[in-house]
Amino acid sequence: LGPTITVGEILVEIMATTIGKGFLDAQPLVGPFPSGAPAIFIDQVAKLGGQAGIIAAVGNDDFGRLNVERLRRDGADVSAIAVSSDYPTGSAFVRYADDGTRDFVYNIARSAAGEIDLNDSARALIARAGHLHVMGSALSIPAVWPIIDYALGEIKKRGGTLSLDPNMRKELAAGEETGRQFKALVAASDLLLPSGDELFVACPAASADEAINTLLASGIAEIVVKRGQHGSALHTNAGRVSRPAFLVEEIDPTGAGDCFGATYLTCRRLGHSAEQSLDYANAAGARNVTRRGPMEGTSTFPELDQFIAATPRK
Ligand code: ADP
Repeated sequence: LGPTITVGEILVEIMATTIGKGFLDAQPLVGPFPSGAPAIFIDQVAKLGGQAGIIAAVGNDDFGRLNVERLRRDGADVSAIAVSSDYPTGSAFVRYADDGTRDFVYNIARSAAGEIDLNDSARALIARAGHLHVMGSALSIPAVWPIIDYALGEIKKRGGTLSLDPNMRKELAAGEETGRQFKALVAASDLLLPSGDELFVACPAASADEAINTLLASGIAEIVVKRGQHGSALHTNAGRVSRPAFLVEEIDPTGAGDCFGATYLTCRRLGHSAEQSLDYANAAGARNVTRRGPMEGTSTFPELDQFIAATPRK
């Protein structure tokens, strides 16, 4: 099959442990935890035993080492993570509001992530890859654009595939060129993994059905909509398959979508049915929200089997 690869931000996350109106109220903070949507995604693929690699850059500091060591330990290929001597590893601060929404303060624009480069190690990883997964958040880093362009060309030339998670964050830069890059990726995607309103970021439309039909008609084979506590649904030209969420106590929602996407993709690449893949992915998302720290709740298949056997569905 060839490894699943991604490209983008690796950072540490420091989070509020209480719900507050602002960071001044939301005390105390805990962390640092390894993070960055592309890093969480690739850690989850690796934990499921899938070959997984990431093109990224960290600083020559403990925040970078924390991430690289975790990814290596969990089985990811870290050969294409560059170590910048000029910039530190980025960070994100997250707090939770009463209504369940999150606020992020990002410190990645001038971090090592901006130094991501199509170097020899990145080219070597791309040469082996069978699938490219792109996180919308990574598109806020201009250095990522030419790498995605090159990787997509190489991988598709060999019959490989592309998945896209439009996890755009309002706190991250979204200039005109980011929008153009995003649109081109939507058009080239084999699998799209939006959650909630992200469907309309991928395809402005009057209703979810209209957006889904337009996207399917444009040639995207699978659209999987993440629905939080309502589970998830797969849409294809053959119809809709939906599976309920698992009943858990949510401690920290960050990272659920990344674990979900990594698990759905890996299951499909392993040849599991749509139902089985959605169940595993719902389990991976649910298991992740029961643990504090975005990458602390990534799962192995035995952990998912155990979780599914022990947890009621909604
Ligand atoms: P994102 O993190 O991208 O916003 P979601 O919040 O929809 O995506 O989470 C992804 C998946 O994780 C959901 O489709 C669901 O299967 C699972 N999940 C997320 N939050 C919960 C929750 N509170 N209870 C059970 N499952 C959840």
